[in-house]
Amino acid sequence: MCKYAGVIVENESEQVDRIFTYEVPDKFKSSIKVGSKVKVPFGKGNRVIVAYVVELFDKLDKNIKNIKFIKYLNEGYPLLDNRDIELIKLMKRKYLCTYLDCIKCIVPSSVQKGMGAKMSKVISLKSPLEGKYVKEPYIIIYELVKEHNGSLSKSAISKKYNVSISSINTLIKHGFFVENEVVVNRFDQRIYKEYKEKVLNDDQRRVVDSIMNSNKTISLIHGITGSGKTEIYMHLVSIMMKKDMESIILVPEIALTPQMVERFKGRFGKDIAVFHSKLSDGERFDEWLRVKNNKVKLAVGARSAIFLPFSNLGLIVIDEEHEGSYKSESSPKYSAYEIAVMRSKIEGCKVILGSATPSIETYYNAKEGSINLLSIKNRVDGSYLPEVKIVDMREELLKNNRTIFSEELFKSIDNALNKKQQCILFLNRRGFSTFVSCRQCGYVFKCKNCDISLTYHNDSECLSCHYCGTKNIVPKSCPQCGSKYVKYFGIGTERVEKDVHKYFPKAKTIRMDFDTTRKKHSYEYMYESFKNHKADILIGTQMIAKGLDFPNVTLVGIIAADLSLNLPDFRASERTFQLITQVSGRAGRGKNKGKVVIQTYSPDSYSIKCAALNDYEGFYNREISIRKDMNYPPFLDMLCINMNSEYEDVLIKNIQKVGIYLKSFIESCDKIDMLGPCPCSISKIKNSFRWQIILKGQINLEYAKKIKNIVYELIKEDYNSIRVSMDINPINML
Ligand code: ADP
Ligand code: ZN
Ligand code: ZN
Repeated sequence: MCKYAGVIVENESEQVDRIFTYEVPDKFKSSIKVGSKVKVPFGKGNRVIVAYVVELFDKLDKNIKNIKFIKYLNEGYPLLDNRDIELIKLMKRKYLCTYLDCIKCIVPSSVQKGMGAKMSKVISLKSPLEGKYVKEPYIIIYELVKEHNGSLSKSAISKKYNVSISSINTLIKHGFFVENEVVVNRFDQRIYKEYKEKVLNDDQRRVVDSIMNSNKTISLIHGITGSGKTEIYMHLVSIMMKKDMESIILVPEIALTPQMVERFKGRFGKDIAVFHSKLSDGERFDEWLRVKNNKVKLAVGARSAIFLPFSNLGLIVIDEEHEGSYKSESSPKYSAYEIAVMRSKIEGCKVILGSATPSIETYYNAKEGSINLLSIKNRVDGSYLPEVKIVDMREELLKNNRTIFSEELFKSIDNALNKKQQCILFLNRRGFSTFVSCRQCGYVFKCKNCDISLTYHNDSECLSCHYCGTKNIVPKSCPQCGSKYVKYFGIGTERVEKDVHKYFPKAKTIRMDFDTTRKKHSYEYMYESFKNHKADILIGTQMIAKGLDFPNVTLVGIIAADLSLNLPDFRASERTFQLITQVSGRAGRGKNKGKVVIQTYSPDSYSIKCAALNDYEGFYNREISIRKDMNYPPFLDMLCINMNSEYEDVLIKNIQKVGIYLKSFIESCDKIDMLGPCPCSISKIKNSFRWQIILKGQINLEYAKKIKNIVYELIKEDYNSIRVSMDINPINML
């Protein structure tokens, strides 16, 4: 029995971000657990608020006085277990966030809010009819109900078979039917077509054996698409299931397609949980509860599935590990990989990373030996990678070709269409023109709320901001000088589609980007149409770069490979390499050999060249030496302190104060560089001004924590009008 409880209160403020001690009243002593949700009187006014028990103990520290009692105990299952609490402590340290932030990650909001299972009253048969006298019409109802035994409610039966509620009541009265309360399942219970287990080939066997026998917890499978990685994951899941252990498989949100779900459910049956951001609160609750109640042995999901409360976890797989979407953009800015490593430390599970283009940091760790490195060089079906051509767009201009298609790409599209084969055209920018400006005075049309130029959308005939979504009417003249020479520059996917129609009028097209896939199921619909050859050319943004497998696609055209190369981010080359490799992988997945045409203004860039040669090692060697010379991760850490506010003057005053203080602070410590304070690359988003300071060096958690305390202390007076966010090695530098 425990006399005292340490609790975390549900209050967002940083000031109360610690563990408070309360006394447990006798009536709760037998049922209170670590992880229980309680209510406690808090603060001077003793307002009753929600709290979570994270410790139970008998002896009190002498210094603690005036202890209050816990007021209510939620008798249901504890929301957190001991392992979760350990995880919360690790996360808090690493992400410089509050306890409450961590709890919110681990327990879905629907569970926190105390949502329950959905209940409904249904009719079931009670006793067989034989030997009993029943009026004839009732017998026919009865026979029908048998079919749906225990699944329909009174009113559903009444509607379905056109009988009155009172007849049903009569049958209940005479003991033929009973009405029960049952849980309504809100998860997908469809039965899927069987997806048979494959006999592993030599490469796959070697990888599975190495993973199971290695004394390293983390393994990286570096294998091109089609090399059989997913089959390996499934095999590992089976091994775990035989040991009665559970697995989590993470895939990027946009790769969690119906095809993916079908494959897993077809192999392991319907009893696997699927967890992604499109689930309703109810569906999310049910999936979470199934995991909590040990009803499933496998969960497939996007980033947040990393927190699912399995009790005997044996395996975590992170597919496409290089994907930026595994890192959370809001506090705590966790990465699913880091959480996986924490869970493996606490729970002893294996962590498997898979990618055709591993992130530089991961590959570096694998080369250095802290991760078990496993490479697969061949595709399962022995098919070849496509032929790749790089086209220098500067030469096209010299040839007086001003269209968006180089001669090479034009001919290749024509050729594919003639052979009734399909093409994919990739451009990582939506809209029609991405830049509108005045020819006379140079005025650039920018968003009023954000420091970003507006994109012209032909479909909706407006200028739209891709950061805040604001739409503006198309200008007839320049607001600055009044001239009528307003010109549109830069191309987006809408423009590509229009030009395809112009030059290949017979070709049918599908465009897949944020604008065309907003409606529920539109993605699936487009996917199916293209798969069934209802269109010849698929045009799209990075949405089409991943996981799509269309055997009849023989040509992939990358309209402008340099787009991601010119971003002010030290990962720009890495992103470009990954994106080109992924998109190229869409060509030639069937019997016919594929071709890729890469259009670029920088044909000599090593990321484009290496991607064209499918040379990951070559790219890695160049990139890692640059990272070393420039002092970027993985050699040093970057602590990014980002501050934003609607009040530009307050923001600048405060960040300068922080800058001056930190400068003298780091001078006393060796080998940390400070960049800034300066405005971020995008200096305003949604009317909020953004400035940053970057510290570069060996930054450990203790040091980061110190910096955090300094920052908060310095801005104390203006705390209400400034938001601070701190991130170690952020994934996005804009
Ligand atoms: P990746 O995840 O690396 O892209 P997959 O696991 O999806 O590769 O495999 C590519 C294709 O090869 C899939 O259609 C899969 O069913 C098939 N496949 C994988 N392993 C085997 C095997 N051992 N025998 C036969 N087919 C296999
Ligand atoms: Zn002008
Ligand atoms: Zn905007």
